[in-house]
Amino acid sequence: MADCIFCKIIKGDIPYTKIYEDKDTLAFLDNSPASLGHTLVIPKKHSETLDQMEEKDLKSLILTAQKIAKAISQISKGYNLIQNNGKVAGQIVSHVHFHLIPRNKKTELNWTPSQKFSEKEIKEVTNKIKTLLK
Ligand code: AMP
Ligand code: ZN
Repeated sequence: MADCIFCKIIKGDIPYTKIYEDKDTLAFLDNSPASLGHTLVIPKKHSETLDQMEEKDLKSLILTAQKIAKAISQISKGYNLIQNNGKVAGQIVSHVHFHLIPRNKKTELNWTPSQKFSEKEIKEVTNKIKTLLK
């Protein structure tokens, strides 16, 4: 999809912070995070919503989400897995994605405004998650 921002990320046309990639899926940091390490997991094949996905692509997607979750669970006390479908449900980017949001404090998820972290913090959390994936 030419005008899809996540398809542009997959093609490497815009910068992003990669966490993990395989044949069918890509995981990268959300650039307006709800917490440090907030990761998005997407299928490489464009689908707008979950219900429109092919079963095999959905299987790959959930397995990648679990792989990232296993790493995130080692750097946080808990995590949220969130997936929005349709504008009315809060979907902004029309390319299926799972949010994996590390949680350390039992407070409301604070998305707007997004949380701000230093480049150093972002680099450190990226390296930690990537190391834990291995
Ligand atoms: P949703 O509301 O579920 O569609 O969430 C879309 C998410 O994509 C938001 O949390 C955005 O911060 C995130 N996002 C949008 N553009 C980018 C980008 N270029 N790189 C990383 N994350 C993005
Ligand atoms: Zn797309």
